Amino acid sequence: MNYSETYHAGTQILSDAGISEAALDARLLLEFITGADLNTLLAHPLTPVSDDEQERYRLLLQKRAQHVPLSYLTGESEFMGITFHVDASVLIPRQDSECLVEEAMRYVDDSSSVLDLCTGSGCLLLALMHYKNRLRAVGTDISSEAVEVASSNARRLETEGALNNGEVTFYCGDLYDALPDGERFEYIISNPPYIRTDVIPTLMSEVRDHEPHIALDGGEDGLDIYRRIAQGAHKYLRKHGMIFLEIGYDQSADVSAILEEYGFTGIKTVKDYCDNDRVITAKMI
Ligand code: GLN
Repeated sequence: MNYSETYHAGTQILSDAGISEAALDARLLLEFITGADLNTLLAHPLTPVSDDEQERYRLLLQKRAQHVPLSYLTGESEFMGITFHVDASVLIPRQDSECLVEEAMRYVDDSSSVLDLCTGSGCLLLALMHYKNRLRAVGTDISSEAVEVASSNARRLETEGALNNGEVTFYCGDLYDALPDGERFEYIISNPPYIRTDVIPTLMSEVRDHEPHIALDGGEDGLDIYRRIAQGAHKYLRKHGMIFLEIGYDQSADVSAILEEYGFTGIKTVKDYCDNDRVITAKMI
């Protein structure tokens, strides 16, 4: 079979399995397997696909048909124009979260210190480092597998010279507990788990059945981790330091109230490109 036939067969398999972007995913997986880019696939549709490639493509299609997210199959995800390695121990970076980084970039100064709680793949912190200079960056996550993924993303980006003379360390542990004594930061950023426990069963299969629930489940009212982040912040944030949080579309009032209760002022909600409340920024008194 050639590129064109293989691609059409792949699209059919994914569309029969009810995958919404069947044609796109079939193409991206074929590009991943053959190493050909879109232009090559289009310009040379009759190029033969080897038996070995066919077999590897078939195995990936089978997994995608079971709703395993594309990024877990390719091991990569694009975020803020940077390629991050991901596996099933971390949330796949979302486009929504780019708003969080973009908002933080408006305030974070070069050479300042930033703490990322629930860092996952490290995408928020490493993207900030990439767009700023000489940041002193620390990320924590309760999952040791996530810390491995974040550290390996950091090593690779550092080698590529993408972190602009910043320094980054990842620690494994529960929020602030992971930090060495006496660490204080000018900024805290976080995309914590914020989905209500009773909503988790209603999520799409890709998320519900394949992404780590520990990165999604924010407890009975979805706000557990916000409370703990806000409560601990006074000890780890410098005076007048700022916090940047991703929130669910309906959590602005609740998270604002929590931040106010724990001594934050200037609390602001920012919308994402779909016009949903997505980010909260606030300042420590
Ligand atoms: N926005 C994510 C989702 O819809 C949830 C991320 C989170 O809980 N931090 O899957």
